[in-house]
Amino acid sequence: MSPNYSPVTEQVVRDLAEILGKSNVAVDLEKRIAYSYDEVPRFYWDRDYIAEAVVFPETTEHVAAVMKYANEHVIPVTPRGAGTGLSGGAVPFAGGIVLSFEKMRRILELDRKNLTITVEPGVVTAEITKAAQKEGLLYAGDPCSGDASFIGGNVAENAGGNKVVKYGTTGNSVLALEAVLADGTVTWFGGKRRKDATGYDFAHLIVGSEGTLAVVTKIILKLLPLPGKVVDLLVPFPDVHSAIDFAPLIQSEGKVIPSSIEFMDGKSIRLAERFLNTVLPYDDAGAHLIIQLEGNDPDVLADDMERIGDLCMSYGALEVFVADNRTTRDKLWKARKCLAEAIMAYYPKYSLEDLVVPTSEIPKLMAETTRLCEKYGVQEANFGHVGDGNMHVNILFPEERPDWHEIIEGLLDELYEFTAGIGGTLSGEHGIGLKRQKYMCRVMDQAQMDLISRVKTAFDPKEILNPGKMIRCREREGGPVLSG
Ligand SMILES: Cc1cc2nc3c(=O)[nH]c(=O)nc-3n(C[C@H](O)[C@H](O)[C@H](O)COP(=O)(O)OP(=O)(O)OC[C@H]3O[C@@H](n4cnc5c(N)ncnc54)[C@H](O)[C@@H]3O)c2cc1C
Repeated sequence: MSPNYSPVTEQVVRDLAEILGKSNVAVDLEKRIAYSYDEVPRFYWDRDYIAEAVVFPETTEHVAAVMKYANEHVIPVTPRGAGTGLSGGAVPFAGGIVLSFEKMRRILELDRKNLTITVEPGVVTAEITKAAQKEGLLYAGDPCSGDASFIGGNVAENAGGNKVVKYGTTGNSVLALEAVLADGTVTWFGGKRRKDATGYDFAHLIVGSEGTLAVVTKIILKLLPLPGKVVDLLVPFPDVHSAIDFAPLIQSEGKVIPSSIEFMDGKSIRLAERFLNTVLPYDDAGAHLIIQLEGNDPDVLADDMERIGDLCMSYGALEVFVADNRTTRDKLWKARKCLAEAIMAYYPKYSLEDLVVPTSEIPKLMAETTRLCEKYGVQEANFGHVGDGNMHVNILFPEERPDWHEIIEGLLDELYEFTAGIGGTLSGEHGIGLKRQKYMCRVMDQAQMDLISRVKTAFDPKEILNPGKMIRCREREGGPVLSG
């Protein structure tokens, strides 16, 4: 723990129990460990980062009182959603208090006139989708982890997912946030209005800030009319390159904006089959694309489907399978959505990456990934949101290797550098967290790094909010100071 932070003493625990009620404070080791990790495997870190206390606020007032107390006593606070993060964002790097949102899980309002839904941060993403659907409305956020992740975590990471091509990331659905600042002040950023040119856009500065600037306690999300009909096309290609070369043409030549354009390479297809104990069509293909189309007019949708199907075939697809009923569509999406879990299940060591490049550069990124995996003697399995240029490159070690950490470091160093050189960046949706902060200077110049430090200081002068994330925290005389 940083010597600049105060420890969580028995007195602190008593004070927290006074603020929140005894049942909302946990200090037993088992709970502290359980709430100190996300989905980045523990082997990734050089040591364990364990919370000194875990608290479970039930209201904004609880959160405000905890923050006020922590700020006064200079105790670090790490907000936590469902812990499905893939960047170590919810790992309590400096110990202190983990602020879990699992008890703030109410849907507060669905406003049909303004097409908004107001929720607490602990609502599971899929619950929002279901609540909207019940009213014939669409909540467009759709991360693959949506059955588990919390909306607060989605906002903090600016989560993407499978519908970004058409609807954008979580931030595009956020209209307003209730935030608790580091000193316990409660404020609202934004409102139910669809546009706002009044001052800085603080709501969207908080989106994607990974719990380093403020704690989100309520969220107003935009809803849309639910499309009447949805169709998924599963399109096998003979190899990775024909699939990724084709993907951008779906919009430019197909003249349609699909809601999803997803990609799985051959290895990912086989991994999904093994994990789900299922068989997918053309499972010996080099790659699959999943293209989702939606609309209200069945004739228009049928035309779009036919045009995209023909286009696929003219660019080398092996076949076009149409999934237009719930069962086949579910089967398809299960395969796509299980891939991160499949890798976690079968590989003793791996690194799940989240690179994003201009869509035209994906072929170069894939070629370089293969070259580097060959150079370092490791395997790759790649899948992702190809329609957004966001590829989940996965570096796989089929066996335990004592030098895995050095290999990963060397490989990622080269891969990130290459990605930056073709106009890409470190993460499209998983965030920087603890995992990628040391690479930030690869994609941001000193002016931007300094700005990040200054914004952080403006919001959180004592650096108690999620320290050690996004940019590195180092000690300097007079207290902890952020630096590149
Ligand atoms: C199998 C699998 C599939 C995935 N698929 C996708 C995908 O398709 N798209 C995608 O974008 N991500 C995906 N992810 C990553 C992950 O699910 C997302 O990053 C998600 O947004 C994290 O939500 P969470 O509730 O689990 O947050 P956590 O992991 O608990 O926390 C994430 C960050 O949010 C901060 N935070 C949490 N709540 C608050 C709050 N109320 N206020 C301020 N800060 C807060 C934490 O401090 C941390 O920095 C996947 C993960 C897995 C395991």
